[in-house]
Amino acid sequence: MAFFDLVDFDHHEQVVFCSDEETGLKAIIAVHSTKLGAAVGGCRMWDYASDEEALVDVLRLSRGMTYKNAMAGLTMGGGKSVIIGNAKEIKSEALFKAFGNALNGLGGRYVSAEDVNITTADIAIANTVTPYVTGTEGKSGNPAPFTALGTFLGIKAAVKHKLGTGDLTGLRIAIQGLGSVGYYLCEHLHKAGAKLVVTDLNQEALDKVATEFGADVVGLNEIYDQDVDVYAPCALGATINDSTIDRIKAKIVAGCANNQLAEPRHDHALVERGILYAPDYVINAGGIINVSFEEDYCIDQATAKVEEIYSTLLDVFNKADAENKPTGMVADEMAREIIARGGK
Ligand code: NAD
Repeated sequence: MAFFDLVDFDHHEQVVFCSDEETGLKAIIAVHSTKLGAAVGGCRMWDYASDEEALVDVLRLSRGMTYKNAMAGLTMGGGKSVIIGNAKEIKSEALFKAFGNALNGLGGRYVSAEDVNITTADIAIANTVTPYVTGTEGKSGNPAPFTALGTFLGIKAAVKHKLGTGDLTGLRIAIQGLGSVGYYLCEHLHKAGAKLVVTDLNQEALDKVATEFGADVVGLNEIYDQDVDVYAPCALGATINDSTIDRIKAKIVAGCANNQLAEPRHDHALVERGILYAPDYVINAGGIINVSFEEDYCIDQATAKVEEIYSTLLDVFNKADAENKPTGMVADEMAREIIARGGK
């Protein structure tokens, strides 16, 4: 496999393959950039179809963290890690200690938080052997409610820009994925008067959101065909792709999932279809912003910083209009400028 030529490699500073025979740990840690500070990003546990798929995923996620942290105005670089395996089968105390020891090997160049299938309890176990974790219970804690708040405000910014209203009452919003973030997002949207259309693999999560927020439940593949104002991808990445893009009737794509566009050209394709895209790493930065307040945690300061996502997104939308470019491309350019300047 030609590593350095992979599009997603994008000049990563360091990629570390970690294994531990005793616990069966197989992990990849990717450090994309430490230009703005130590690389910080979550750890994802996933049953990848191949090691190559895991590598591409961690590289894309890691680069996204560099841009996310820069756009959020944090003094943190970008990195990410993946643990390969089925979360229902491989989780153990020994495994997370082995992961903690792997983090020690990077000496603080990368600091891990939670991502898909990794909980604050898992991070707490790693924390018994390494200081290089964040988002810990008793300090900044679970980032998901803050990611949800930022995503909610990002949807409001997109609605304001595209539909010219600050009121979500009666707007129809399709949410794909009702996990740690998706559930809290539904709560915000319901309180704001939006009508929810939802899907998930998990029946329990669907029942809860249908009962609590009066959401309409649709099938996994039907979510793309809904007659809605906003499509909010909140599960996994690449759901904006060649087979879905022509089916999306929403005028706005704004959700918390990472890497929503299957390929960069889908940024242009959304513009051609008149759909406003809220770049994923800008709208979903609430969790990492909260985590950045880990030491001397203050919820009011963290919340105020998360609220800046609203104006950051309006800046991206306005610049995209002024320069007649897709929003994803404009966000990338803004992030690269911030990194070149050494901070926001
Ligand atoms: P999660 O694992 O708690 O929830 C994901 C949900 O999506 C689950 O309920 C799962 O059943 C569902 N799902 C999986 N595949 C699906 C499919 N094909 N169709 C419909 N539903 C499906 O994860 P999370 O923490 O809520 O994160 C969701 C997304 O947001 C991920 O892409 C993650 O990388 C991103 N994100 C999360 C955070 C955070 O703070 N947790 C921060 C930034 C970005």
